[in-house]
Amino acid sequence: MAPVVTAVTDRVHFVRTELVNWTLVRDDDGVILIDAGFPGHRDEVLTSLHGLGFGVGDVRAILLTHAHIDHFGTAIWFAATHGTPVYCHADEVAHSRRDHLEQASPIDIAKHAWQPTWLKWSVSIIGKGALTRAGIASTAPLTDHIAAALPGSPVCIPTPGHTGGHCSYVVDGVLVSGDALITGHPVASRRGPQLLPSVFNHDEDACRRSLTTLGALDTEVILPGHGPLWRGPVRDAAAQAAQASVR
Ligand SMILES: [Zn+2]
Repeated sequence: MAPVVTAVTDRVHFVRTELVNWTLVRDDDGVILIDAGFPGHRDEVLTSLHGLGFGVGDVRAILLTHAHIDHFGTAIWFAATHGTPVYCHADEVAHSRRDHLEQASPIDIAKHAWQPTWLKWSVSIIGKGALTRAGIASTAPLTDHIAAALPGSPVCIPTPGHTGGHCSYVVDGVLVSGDALITGHPVASRRGPQLLPSVFNHDEDACRRSLTTLGALDTEVILPGHGPLWRGPVRDAAAQAAQASVR
């Protein structure tokens, strides 16, 4: 599936791929990325920037919802090659630097490989650089001061659980929920608002508490880390995801 770009507002553009999504937020002075795909998504990320008339030098910052390889893959290259600033929640910085790794291991995933959807997905993500171990040493905490000066003035909403320092962002009235609330995934049979399968979540109880946090927001559009854009009150999406995660 070629990336599908949706203009959500004048500023916010959602890029959906089969494996993972990212978001572009623009203003007159440049653009930010919220999440950055797998390492092997570089061409797709650059194409999405070019589509809005931007080059690499126009990327003022990359904001991470969390430091899993499918969300920060090309940020490794942006930071190393172009010095692009990379920010995330303060509690996720050490993870982004790879002081530790909070990610389902190949062994965890191999336990599911008897299922054709998991096997197919595993092959796809390995082809996109899923086994890359590099971190981003320059990752810094996103402060209110820094965020206020970026396109769309993104607000970080702490939503730990999927990882210890996961956060979502509200930007230009839109919720970018990362992996705290998704609407589909290649290994998930269910469609619609949901949590990721528990093998991917660092703390499942915290994931559910974070759904409550998201449900209290007053937004009508959700741009998830995986799955299609979702329109409607976020409290409805959070309630559906909570319901779907009861085991
Ligand atoms: Zn993740």
